[in-house]
Amino acid sequence: MVSERSTFLSQLRHIDPYRMMREGREIAGAISIASLTRLSPLLAETEGEAFSEAIFSRDEIKRCIISVKIKTSLVLTCQRCLANYRFDIDRSFQVSAVEDTDIHDEESLPDDYEPILVENGFINLLDTIEDELLLSLPLVAMHEDIADCVEQGYRTKSEALDLQLEKDEQAPVNPFRVLKKPVDDEK
Ligand SMILES: [Zn+2]
Repeated sequence: MVSERSTFLSQLRHIDPYRMMREGREIAGAISIASLTRLSPLLAETEGEAFSEAIFSRDEIKRCIISVKIKTSLVLTCQRCLANYRFDIDRSFQVSAVEDTDIHDEESLPDDYEPILVENGFINLLDTIEDELLLSLPLVAMHEDIADCVEQGYRTKSEALDLQLEKDEQAPVNPFRVLKKPVDDEK
């Protein structure tokens, strides 16, 4: 199983897109999250896998198009309640293989697909998949519903204030407390 996975990884890193296109190939497999070294430091847990498939085809103007799907569930830390939560990603995108020579000639760059550079006859699709996962991450990781944060022990401001007041009532009276009253109370 492990060797199967590493085979898929090395296959993604080193693809001859034109040959795959001519043969009308599709590839699919699992990528271990821990092997994605730019993504994994941003996650709360690096266990698990991303499932990906790539279909190679030629479009009407004979470009080599790669249709990619990625599906995974990443563990992020909510920045509001600091609990970990699952963030699901299910994306499809298309890239077009371009030669080094095309990169310098903007006219021949596809404007309807993201380009993927062919170097010495090969593309690194793993890098592109990792880029896409990075782009899919939220700007600030947070439970979508604040109720989920409350469930994890997060207190909204007014709740926290109520708790604080309760605590204060139980605490011995501090003679200096009056002096420390927050300015807000004077409103
Ligand atoms: Zn939360």
